[in-house]
Amino acid sequence: MTSRTGSTLRIDLHTHSTASDGTLTPAELVSAASQAGLDVLAITDHDTTAGWAPAVRALPSGLRLVRGAELSCRWSGAEPAVPLHLLAYLFDPDHPELVAELARVRAPGRSAANGWSPCSAPTAST
Ligand SMILES: [Zn+2]
Repeated sequence: MTSRTGSTLRIDLHTHSTASDGTLTPAELVSAASQAGLDVLAITDHDTTAGWAPAVRALPSGLRLVRGAELSCRWSGAEPAVPLHLLAYLFDPDHPELVAELARVRAPGRSAANGWSPCSAPTAST
């Protein structure tokens, strides 16, 4: 893959828009990324894919968009469980279990303290 300048690719794989806690709308985000000279941008809002469509509609030529999200999780391999955020890319936003889980995590009354969805925990090996 070649960059617009024929040199090193400039990539940001972790950004947030106003679809979660970012300060730029998805359209403003892709515009700012292009103006900054990025070649690839991932939009990874917290627990939502709501920014994907507006980002695609506003995508400047020359900028490639990676669709993703930052998923709120809880790793149960430790006691107490460890809350964490998992960056996920290129998944099916219409997968029924994912749609249900994201709705559960974003439900009113949920907070970072009690709203994290469980993740599959890796097993420790000795
Ligand atoms: Zn983040």
